[in-house]
Amino acid sequence: MATRKRVPRRRQSPSSPSDSSATPTTAEPAVEATHESASPKKRRRRRSRAKRGGGDREQEPPVETAIAAEEKTIDSTVASSGFATLGLSDMMLNALTAAGYIEPTPVQAGLIPLALKGGDLMGQAQTGTGKTAAFAIPILEQLTSGKHRGPQALVLVPTRELAVQVRDEMVKLAHGRRIHIVAAYGGKPVRGQAEKLRRGAEIVVGTPGRLLDHLGRGSLFIGDLRQVVLDEADRMLDIGFRPDIEKILRKCPQSRQTLLFSATLPLPVLRLARRYMRDPEELDYSPKDIGVETIEQFYFTVDPERKFDLLVRLIEREQPTQAIVFCRTRRGTEKIYQRLKKKVDSVAAIHGDLQQTVRDRVMKSFRDGQVQFLVATDVVGRGIDVTRISHIFNFDIPEFCDDYVHRVGRTGRMGREGVAYTFVSPEQGNELTRIEMRINRLLKRGEMSGFADSDKPTGQPEEEKPVPKPVFGRRGTRRVRRAL
Ligand code: AMP
Repeated sequence: MATRKRVPRRRQSPSSPSDSSATPTTAEPAVEATHESASPKKRRRRRSRAKRGGGDREQEPPVETAIAAEEKTIDSTVASSGFATLGLSDMMLNALTAAGYIEPTPVQAGLIPLALKGGDLMGQAQTGTGKTAAFAIPILEQLTSGKHRGPQALVLVPTRELAVQVRDEMVKLAHGRRIHIVAAYGGKPVRGQAEKLRRGAEIVVGTPGRLLDHLGRGSLFIGDLRQVVLDEADRMLDIGFRPDIEKILRKCPQSRQTLLFSATLPLPVLRLARRYMRDPEELDYSPKDIGVETIEQFYFTVDPERKFDLLVRLIEREQPTQAIVFCRTRRGTEKIYQRLKKKVDSVAAIHGDLQQTVRDRVMKSFRDGQVQFLVATDVVGRGIDVTRISHIFNFDIPEFCDDYVHRVGRTGRMGREGVAYTFVSPEQGNELTRIEMRINRLLKRGEMSGFADSDKPTGQPEEEKPVPKPVFGRRGTRRVRRAL
């Protein structure tokens, strides 16, 4: 899809951080302030629709990798690549070479130059588009040496898994530099994290609850912050982090740069942006355009008691490289895991009832490819970024449409092909329709002998139920067909 380009207008604010190339300023004291005075009128909508766009560790990874500021030869591949045109330092270009990143993804190409200018940005993008590097690179590029009491950048994420993932990606991109990046998230002892924070960290990645905890204990000081990232803002608000986020933001220096990433931009996210960001530029890499190209999406109408058989048949037929089976509840996840264990060799489960150490271990095995099938709930499934995932099975149709987008986005990573199957009971036609409206695309009907739509019609006919008003396509025809 074509990118609609406009010349970005840079917000001018006397209190905003100056040009990235400027000499570092002295750290500012923490001030209690919001950005409520920002003029929403001035907010520029920059709509550039893009085509498509780290391993979990128990211990903090060794981030003191080398001596900073050392002159290095730049790898010729990256030197002549799209990254070289973004105005990045030699150190960063070398780190990108080491990471194997040759060309920037659309999110990176669009966002990095703007972020380097210092203004607030609101990016509509989900994981899988390279958005972590899109904010990590400008953060790393703008770190300054000298004495700081606290971190210079803070990244807020909704889940523990994402905290680890973002931390790992940042460590990868900090290759060749002596930078301390600490992940602070719940489910792990506070003391170890507090110790690392006290020793000094340039960047902290954490979940809002645990970060507040550290602030309360005095193990984290955020008065030196120059950049704050709200990653997966919609998800953080969904799971009730609004008060915690607001408390944290009110303690951040007013002169900070704020970068917000969200897969969707519902009203609560926009409100948050209005209050705590200054005249943010908006960039749109929304999932309705991503995903469509490389992920084939099917649905099956199937009775609940036959869903497991269908899953096993699909696995036998498709032989996924790696797959996630999504369930709605923790109990459901555990049940399917126990049953699947008897059918396949390599399966694990991940849900909120498990201890963090177990969750970390499971995620690591899955990322390393040692586990082929992961049965998961939405909360933990959301941030998973594993490029080998070839299949998504929505064993239970998700409760919220946005969760569908996130689940399916676990496959087709970085332009690879992926397949998603959604199991729908005959009564769930409306839920499927809502998802289709959300993604503006009709799911294809899946084919499997013995599992045709008309095999066992049950439940209330669709026509008797209130249906959402169609907004596109030939909805009427399709709904009747599914109800048969
Ligand atoms: P994210 O959207 O940040 O979750 O990134 C998805 C995956 O893409 C991660 O595994 C990154 O390491 C990888 N990635 C990010 N940027 C690039 C790039 N420019 N080239 C290749 N891989 C990348």
